[in-house]
Amino acid sequence: MKVGIVGAGMVGSATGYALALTGTVSQVVLVDLNADLARAQAEDISHAVPFASSTVVMAGDYAALTDAAVVILAAGVGQKPGESRLELLGRNAEVFADVTAGVLKHAPDAILLVASNPVDIMTQITTRLTGRPPARVIGSGTILDTARFRSLLGRHLGISPHSVHAYVLGEHGDSEVLAWSNARAGSVPLSSFAAQLGAPITRNVRAGIDEGVRQAAYRIINGKGATWYGIGAGLARIVRAIARDEQVVLSVSIVTDEVAGVHDVALSLPRVVGAAGVTADLMPDLNDAEAAELEASAQLLKDSADAVPH
Ligand code: ADP
Repeated sequence: MKVGIVGAGMVGSATGYALALTGTVSQVVLVDLNADLARAQAEDISHAVPFASSTVVMAGDYAALTDAAVVILAAGVGQKPGESRLELLGRNAEVFADVTAGVLKHAPDAILLVASNPVDIMTQITTRLTGRPPARVIGSGTILDTARFRSLLGRHLGISPHSVHAYVLGEHGDSEVLAWSNARAGSVPLSSFAAQLGAPITRNVRAGIDEGVRQAAYRIINGKGATWYGIGAGLARIVRAIARDEQVVLSVSIVTDEVAGVHDVALSLPRVVGAAGVTADLMPDLNDAEAAELEASAQLLKDSADAVPH
């Protein structure tokens, strides 16, 4: 399977690297406005391949995306000093108008994976720009936040995060909702499991995990300017679900008809992902406080997406 990546910056190249190391797909093509950067990243990543897989990694233009089954959209521009978040969004919407035109011309049937931030709004914009079915325009959403949540819970309980079933819903950002009330370890509700292990989820433990999930990106950005490895691996995980038609449940963002009374909004819920993209959405049972938080997150995203000129 061929995967295209438009935007060969930190996130795009980390995704290419993760795909090459895992050998999930046969070919990765990097495209960037800066063709020299795309070539250099492709050459560097291809030097890792002999140690790991047989994935062919190359750089190209949009025509090289022909027959790609998945195209990852990781292009974008950084915030200028004094620029508002909405102005930045407007400029990234222009970048995406350009990028999606190039992708649609050569890979009209590809599933689009949106990685650029703010990812939920960029997912909504991409769906609007391309007219593709929402099930085939997937934002990475809270896939990484969910992974961070499970990993911190697993560490507290002393068990593998793979045995923790817990989701982060809504926006990939400040309004995200940690769905504590339906979290489970094995098949046991979290609080009961934690009590049985003698590692109760006290108010302090909960606050620490909540902070650990919500502040992760800020901490990393403070230390190294941006985040890329975690999200690169998360995007590669979504590609694997598509490549192997896994029908696995992942928390990803797509435009959804209605969530918590808000219509036509892109945000994350647990969703079934396979070769056709998203095939089902799942709405977890939430307590009243979490349901109110999800509604607020959905409304905030809807208002932001509506404010982008279109
Ligand atoms: P991130 O950390 O999100 O990956 P970067 O700035 O490292 O951000 O990467 C964004 C990449 O997107 C840059 O390499 C930039 O050249 C690329 N880019 C910006 N605009 C376009 C465009 N219109 N078409 C293709 N690539 C673009």
